[in-house]
Amino acid sequence: SNPYLENPDIHTVDGLTYPMKNPALMTREISVLADESGLYRFHITSLQPLNPNNIADAFEREALLSFERGEREAMAQVEEDGKDMFRYMAPLMVEESCLSCHSKQGYELGQVRGGISVTFDITSISQSLARANGLISILGTGTLALLLGLFFFQTKDLMRKLQKATLHIATLAASDPLTNLYNRRHFFSLLEAELKRTKRYDKPLSCIMLDLDYFKKVNDTHGHSSGDLVLKDLALLIQANIRDCDVAARYGGEEFVILLPETSLQKAFSTAEKLRELIEDHPFQTDQGEPLSLTASFGCAAFKDSGGEERLEGDAFVAAADQCMYQAKRAGRNQVACTVCTAG
Ligand code: GH3
Ligand code: MG
Ligand code: MG
Repeated sequence: SNPYLENPDIHTVDGLTYPMKNPALMTREISVLADESGLYRFHITSLQPLNPNNIADAFEREALLSFERGEREAMAQVEEDGKDMFRYMAPLMVEESCLSCHSKQGYELGQVRGGISVTFDITSISQSLARANGLISILGTGTLALLLGLFFFQTKDLMRKLQKATLHIATLAASDPLTNLYNRRHFFSLLEAELKRTKRYDKPLSCIMLDLDYFKKVNDTHGHSSGDLVLKDLALLIQANIRDCDVAARYGGEEFVILLPETSLQKAFSTAEKLRELIEDHPFQTDQGEPLSLTASFGCAAFKDSGGEERLEGDAFVAAADQCMYQAKRAGRNQVACTVCTAG
């Protein structure tokens, strides 16, 4: 018999007694059965239970208060005897049928009368989750490390390629594509630096300008590709017969310029004379392999510092060598003319 019911038992005319089982009692009994089977347990409760066994615990009390504020469910994960338990609770609303027993408690239709809480053992789920989280962390860290590694090596590779490309571009920007010698622009940047060094340390500096004689004839007679071949061959000849510290560049079509650091006019003249003879004797060829004889005219200029503040411009220095070269042309070609170029 349920002592909290007004009429707890039904007595039949043939003398049998049937105890009344209300929802709270049934719920508790089913809950005990489920709990004993290790499944779950549930509990019907309210803030003002008739039966003190149905008193709400802390979680349920909080949940019931929140239901009165309008919440419609509550859940929590709690630890109980070393186990992870999941608790869930939903409200029981006052319906017509509830009032027959609970109207005395002052409940009205639609009010929150209480709630049913369910408690599950989720220890194995929590452990699986923890294992999965651990695995995810390891995999995540591994993936991140892999990506970072890939990114690092990719970036390193890109940087290397970029450096190579930059170097290639710088080389292209500084060189003449046909002869691979420095081009005029780069020659002038080197010349400016060399002029400053020369003035600062009071060292000699010379410049040779050379121009092939009657080169147009080569193009006209044997074609442009033969002319190109001659220019390439001449560049190699010049490069092979000057010092490492000298700077040779293609100044224009068939004009070449050579900067000779720490070189007096006399030594520059000897170098120009040597080159002149080498060109005169060199077995140039057409693109068909026919022999070609060529000569070149040379102009040499040597820098002379008169000690003043005024500095010699690179253009003026090269122009002096150029004028000498034209002088050599006028004097009959295949010869060297010299001058001294003063600054300050
Ligand atoms: P000079 O003795 O007075 O210097 O006579 P030249 O024929 O050498 O001089 P000119 O200035 O009359 O002609 C230069 C020629 O050089 C004309 C041009 O076609 C040729 N030339 C310039 N650049 C190149 C080039 O890159 N390749 C070839 N094949 N020919 C070139
Ligand atoms: Mg010429
Ligand atoms: Mg010329």
